[in-house]
Amino acid sequence: MIPMMSLSSEKSTILVVDDYPANLHLLLESLKEAGYKVLIAINGESAIRQAGFAKPEIIMLDVMMPGMDGFETCRCLKQQPNTRDIPVIFMTALSETVDKLRGFEAGGVDYITKPLNIVELLARINVHLELKRAREELKKINQELQETNQKLLDSQQQLERMARIDPLTELANRRDMTERLEQEKQHSERSGASFAVVICDIDNFKQVNDNYGHDCGDIVLKSVARLLQANIRAQDHVARWGGEEFLLLLTDTNDSGAAKFAERVRAAIANEPYQYQNQALAITMTFGISMCQADKGIHLCLKEADQALYQGKEHGKNRVTVFRQTA
Ligand code: GH3
Ligand code: MG
Ligand code: MG
Repeated sequence: MIPMMSLSSEKSTILVVDDYPANLHLLLESLKEAGYKVLIAINGESAIRQAGFAKPEIIMLDVMMPGMDGFETCRCLKQQPNTRDIPVIFMTALSETVDKLRGFEAGGVDYITKPLNIVELLARINVHLELKRAREELKKINQELQETNQKLLDSQQQLERMARIDPLTELANRRDMTERLEQEKQHSERSGASFAVVICDIDNFKQVNDNYGHDCGDIVLKSVARLLQANIRAQDHVARWGGEEFLLLLTDTNDSGAAKFAERVRAAIANEPYQYQNQALAITMTFGISMCQADKGIHLCLKEADQALYQGKEHGKNRVTVFRQTA
């Protein structure tokens, strides 16, 4: 009895390569009867050509052929990307171990000895078809897994980015800036360089909301954020610290440098022509500065900048104040 290919499988194509017509005939009849589509080739060159365009699922390859022998044919098939994965089963009259080994070395998956036992041959074909499908399935699952993994990584990165950004102004948020301040502090401990923390707050912002509505307030916040971002140097950082308060981190800066810099930003904010529904708005900000050196913690720095800001508010707003230690 001849075992049939499994019912679930499609009609698989098998390429049979043999220079001996009687063998080809026997294989052609038996494989067709078992339900396979059969292609034939009578030498290595034509086998390689056919395998390239017909993409058979399995190649049955004779070892002893004039010209290119089976081993060489197999090596060529294994070098081509489009035929590399097609399982090759050698058919050989040679039963010595050394030749079987040569077959595996050339890239064959199996061998069957001549004279051919059709039942055994069909059983081996079946096994290798199943193995090939399992390999392909695994490859597909693997690919899907990699894609899912990549998507997960992308979403995770996006979430991490979002967790550090203020959605209204798209500036860094307080969380991001807090970490940056700690990093800058560590850097300054190593380098000995000082940096400035500037807290700035929109003046009379409540009135903007009260007079023109919350939407207008939001637009002002966005404009101020854009201006701050545009006016800092590449090595500096800006964040929305909360409400209508922003924080600037100025690296490698001394107090007079920081004051000059903040003064320039203050003027840029105050001179900007703000408009809401054809009405001109006057927007100003007050700035408080604290210098951070190696011996001063971030917490204290922030407190000092806040005190300087408060002093500026007390003294009429729209100004820059550097924190000074009072004895
Ligand atoms: P000062 O000059 O002393 O800073 O006064 P101010 O009115 O700016 O300060 P106050 O703290 O009294 O009011 C701040 C207002 O900012 C109150 C709050 O509703 C508003 N605010 C905070 N966050 C937002 C926001 O995201 N959008 C809008 N539109 N308003 C906000
Ligand atoms: Mg304010
Ligand atoms: Mg405030």
